[in-house]
Amino acid sequence: MLAAPSVPVDPGRPQTAAPRRSGPAAPPPDLLAPHLPQEPGPADAPASASTGAGAIAAAPAQPVPAGGPISAQCPACSLHPLVPVHLRQDAKTGRWRQLAPSDPPGPGVLTLDTCPVCFGVWLDQGEIDALGDADIDPAFLKTMVGRSAGRMCPRGHGFMNEHLLPGMLKTPVDRCPRCRGMWLDGDERHALARSTTKEGQEDDSVRLAKRGLIWAAQILTQLPIEVDNPDRGTPWAVYGLSALLVVAYVMSVLGVVYARTFALIAGRVAVDPVHAYTVFTHAFFHADWFHLLGNLYFLYVFGDNVEHVYGRRRFLLLYFGAGLFGGVLQLLLTRALTVPVVGASGAIAGVCGAYLVIFPRARLLQTIPFVFVQVKIPAWVYLCVWLGFQALMAVFSDAIQFAWFSHIGGFLFGMAITPLVLRSVVREVGERVRVKSAAAIFGKIPRRRGPPIVVAKAGASGTRPTASP
Ligand SMILES: [Zn+2]
Ligand SMILES: [Zn+2]
Repeated sequence: MLAAPSVPVDPGRPQTAAPRRSGPAAPPPDLLAPHLPQEPGPADAPASASTGAGAIAAAPAQPVPAGGPISAQCPACSLHPLVPVHLRQDAKTGRWRQLAPSDPPGPGVLTLDTCPVCFGVWLDQGEIDALGDADIDPAFLKTMVGRSAGRMCPRGHGFMNEHLLPGMLKTPVDRCPRCRGMWLDGDERHALARSTTKEGQEDDSVRLAKRGLIWAAQILTQLPIEVDNPDRGTPWAVYGLSALLVVAYVMSVLGVVYARTFALIAGRVAVDPVHAYTVFTHAFFHADWFHLLGNLYFLYVFGDNVEHVYGRRRFLLLYFGAGLFGGVLQLLLTRALTVPVVGASGAIAGVCGAYLVIFPRARLLQTIPFVFVQVKIPAWVYLCVWLGFQALMAVFSDAIQFAWFSHIGGFLFGMAITPLVLRSVVREVGERVRVKSAAAIFGKIPRRRGPPIVVAKAGASGTRPTASP
């Protein structure tokens, strides 16, 4: 398509800095009209249908969204290009179901563009109409107060405006003033879903929004986008590391290798520095199955998301770097000079630290021990409690055989390098797409990252992963 960067670079004039575009991707003139109320006449449909490139087929008599496929960086998190998700309406139930990647997009298939990292979704105006089977209610739009969102329209129209939805959302939604497409953050989708339940609709301010966007939101609550993700990829680094840990453990159990040789014993290193290699090698061995499985579980839960954002090579650097850094800190600070320390906990704590920086608002499903009540906890609460627990135990506990300092060191290592990694991820993703995000243009790390990734989790909180001697 267009080779030239199609994004404005002048922050001083955000509202008028829409790039010049031409060709089939340009929206039809009727969508560019400055006034909001718009009558979707039958004459609109054939004109815009020719621009849809067959990818999007809306309900009959609805204007087809303009522009065809999107090549844009996620305007919210900037950590991934937007990925198309194909939906088809079930004729019997009226529900929208996600097609498998193998299913060819055909008639009656609606394509939404979503971010597989933050789970936000972009809705072209025609897509909102198709999902809600009506035009946006002008009365509803009057309740919105617009201001610049600092986010780019994925269609390349420059900055979007923020709109408030009083009584429904604490955070504003973003809307392009030119193509009238709408961006919903992942957590905004969930908040809208909550506020559009039967009880919520009895509220006056919510009743105002009965039509238009809210229909889209109701439909979105049925979308399995956040469950079946199109472009997450297989976390090969996580699988490979897991296999490595299992093999190392089995070999130590079988006596093929003697784990104590590779264990970190602070006193031994102090006496003979030749054993300094153990600050690295101790991370490959485990004391018992329980210890190993606990670590593997945490590696899997947090690791796949982090690997997805980091990329495989950088993820391996994070993992081994955190293991090494945790080992060094353990060596320098531990009081247990004669206790052999093994376990990948420090390396995995580094993955947790990275997760905290990338997904602070991700909600984790946690079963409270002994009470057996399931609660949703933001990742930052969960991980900060975990870190605080480690720090308290490191300073005050008599259980000096645990590798508290290794956990803390690995965790801090992951937290420290993640902003640097995110910066280059944002830049690299920006180079792969036609429409860069604002963060890529201005070289920043985006704010407001909150993917509603819900991770099933059970068992004791705040005590894992731990390393036992
Ligand atoms: Zn995103
Ligand atoms: Zn736009």
